[in-house]
Amino acid sequence: MPFTLPELPYAESALEPSIDAQTMNIHRLKHHKAYVDNLNKALEGQADWAGKSIEQLCGAIGSVPEAIRGAVRNNGGGHFNHLMFWRIMAPKGTGGAPSAALAAAIANGIGSMDELKAKLADAGLKRFGSGWAWLIKKADGSVCVTSTPNQDNPLMIGLVDAPGTPLMGIDVWEHAYYLKYQNRRADYLAAWWDVVNWNEVSARFGA
Ligand code: MN
Repeated sequence: MPFTLPELPYAESALEPSIDAQTMNIHRLKHHKAYVDNLNKALEGQADWAGKSIEQLCGAIGSVPEAIRGAVRNNGGGHFNHLMFWRIMAPKGTGGAPSAALAAAIANGIGSMDELKAKLADAGLKRFGSGWAWLIKKADGSVCVTSTPNQDNPLMIGLVDAPGTPLMGIDVWEHAYYLKYQNRRADYLAAWWDVVNWNEVSARFGA
């Protein structure tokens, strides 16, 4: 099996009160696990594709055989997105601050940290149904905010309005917040900022 479910880098309860332990448990062990299992199933017998990294699969989604493209798009996207999501969060007070380079890019491309929060909240709230709100680094090194439906992500060139390197993605599927917040997606998005792992986001910007 090429892909596996990752361990969390913190306890399931470590992100409370922003994200409750039961949500973390179900989100990883049920939802993320299903993406991993279904991705592996889709790649069975696909020797040309089963050895690729998850980033390569997402980046080449348009070339994946049509018979499995939908499954790889949904489940491969789901795997990449959740791998990133667990790592760009950290217990409150431990996530550090944006690096000088990332802070400068945010200032240049977006304006201020308050504007970044407002734009990501807006992207998340306007995403009808399920999807993600993203801060991405474009090919020219600048940053911008965008969103995608379902488990699509900015690596999926040709499928998304703004391709780039995902620096930060906020999961706005109901499974990410419904147990604690029910329909109050805006409250979830506001509380999420307490658990950002800026050290990880800055590393992604620098990479
Ligand atoms: Mn999710």
